[in-house]
Amino acid sequence: MLALQGAFREHKTLLESLGATVREVRLPQHLTGLGGLVIPGGESTVIGKLMEEYGLMEAIQDFYASGAAVYGSCAGAILLAREVLGAPPQFGTQPALGLLDMTVQRNAFGRQIDSFDVPLEVRGLTEAFPAAFIRAPVIVSVGEGVEVLSTYQPEHHPEQIVLVRQERLLASSFHPELTRDPRIHQLFLGLME
Ligand code: GLN
Repeated sequence: MLALQGAFREHKTLLESLGATVREVRLPQHLTGLGGLVIPGGESTVIGKLMEEYGLMEAIQDFYASGAAVYGSCAGAILLAREVLGAPPQFGTQPALGLLDMTVQRNAFGRQIDSFDVPLEVRGLTEAFPAAFIRAPVIVSVGEGVEVLSTYQPEHHPEQIVLVRQERLLASSFHPELTRDPRIHQLFLGLME
């Protein structure tokens, strides 16, 4: 669990309830021996700058290349993306890992529907998943090797991609850790095997 900023405690609790052993990662050496990493929601600019400061950008890229799985939720999804749109210019370039072949748009749902809960149809799940969106990004486009697992169509908006998988990478626009439904985390643990 990347524990620099944001909603990492809730993910940790949920993963532990599924029987996983969870370590908080703040420095590159904390990744040693782990099978996967969750990058939580929070503020992607803040998390990204801290990742750069602590040498975690390269360390996580190497960690993934060595066979580990990585899941990014909300700000975490932004940090996984190959391309990020909508970063406020005053913060300079958006730091990102660039591992997942997708373009994301930050804060894409706009002011009116800033934060909301919605039941989502997810590929591979029989019942809808209760998803919490909080100043969420959307996945604007994905490359060929990326599997779209869920989309959501808000009223008066086009359909948006909100959950994707590419090999051992998983990214969601929403926060599955807030609803205590473990199915997205189960999906992630499955990628580690
Ligand atoms: N709006 C945040 C960002 O762009 C993400 C919000 C979240 O993680 N809940 O980084």
